[in-house]
Amino acid sequence: MEVGRLFRADDREGKIDLGVGTYRNGAGRIEVMAAVKNAERRLLESQTGKGYVGPGGDPAFCDHLARALFPELGPMADGQLALIQTPGGTGAYRLGLELAALRSPSPRLIIGTPTWPNHIPTAERVGLRCTTYRHYDPISGAVDFDAMLASVKAAHPGDLFLIHGCCHNPTGAILDPSQWRALAAALLEARLVPIVDLAYAGMAAGITADVEATRQLVETLPEAIIAISCSKSFGLYSERTGMLAVRAASMAAADACRKTAESLARSLWSNPPDHGAAIVRTILADSGLTSVWSNELRDMRLRLASIRARLASAGFPGANRLAAQEGLFAMLDLTPAAIAAMREHHAIYMDPSGRINIAGLNDHNIERFLSAIRVASGATEPM
Ligand code: PMP
Repeated sequence: MEVGRLFRADDREGKIDLGVGTYRNGAGRIEVMAAVKNAERRLLESQTGKGYVGPGGDPAFCDHLARALFPELGPMADGQLALIQTPGGTGAYRLGLELAALRSPSPRLIIGTPTWPNHIPTAERVGLRCTTYRHYDPISGAVDFDAMLASVKAAHPGDLFLIHGCCHNPTGAILDPSQWRALAAALLEARLVPIVDLAYAGMAAGITADVEATRQLVETLPEAIIAISCSKSFGLYSERTGMLAVRAASMAAADACRKTAESLARSLWSNPPDHGAAIVRTILADSGLTSVWSNELRDMRLRLASIRARLASAGFPGANRLAAQEGLFAMLDLTPAAIAAMREHHAIYMDPSGRINIAGLNDHNIERFLSAIRVASGATEPM
């Protein structure tokens, strides 16, 4: 927040915002995707009323989104997936925690740090106790997998285990396929319930690859909570569009879970906002619009990958660690003084933790960013 305020107050030409976590195109703008514009035009023509959608939201939106993310998912086909439309991924996460908190005894939530700043406060507000472990090894730039597995082993059956499904925020460090398999097996053995935060599907290697770990967890474990955001994948930040998917142990349990979630949603926001979900439904119900959208999503991820590759080969201290990471974010190895110097001398804004949103970089500003970071990180020779 503070970074955003300072950025807006800065009137220097060419200032660079690497703070706020939204995707920007090569011209530095948050654009409305063409598929979204097209769907909005259709809605404008066809919508006949703006009645309440009901606490669980629009079942057609939920169904289309679930099938787009997890086609042929066993538990979905077996009716073991409860789907509820929510206000953004934040709403999905909150509702998932509220559901979990009703269990007796109320579980603990185990979280790797650093993490999205909303994860711990939201869980505590719901009354869950949080235990943390080290997700990120700043020396290697990789996931501290030993710490992750040790925290699974130390947990109690029924505890919740938070997982970023892809594109870890803020580090970009994610598990490799064999680690995902080992994690799923460890969670099953320890009888933990994963809560998967899936906020960036499609931004790393495409929808199928990005949801693969989540799919495996849902297939492997009898219970799982998935908080899905459409903010990034459809560029619908302001429309507050998301979905909670709960994998339950049986069809009857999934039905009971959906009913409980609906009654919780009623007291939280009554009904979810409709417009963004109607856009997503309109896109996914039409194969032509779906392919426009998936091409646009592909362009976004290719742009992110090319910026990441340029950063990783730029030679500033720690740069090469970025190559194996994914998504919008990366942590730079900068002291607080260097971060302040980037801001004061170069009008480059980033989170005080050193997290940057690489989507804020483009052909017009990346060289300026690279020369500033070489100075700020104390490199004396041009690299
Ligand atoms: N989880 C993570 C990891 C996020 O980064 C974000 C958004 N910054 C969210 C959830 C919430 O997304 P939404 O805007 O859809 O509520």
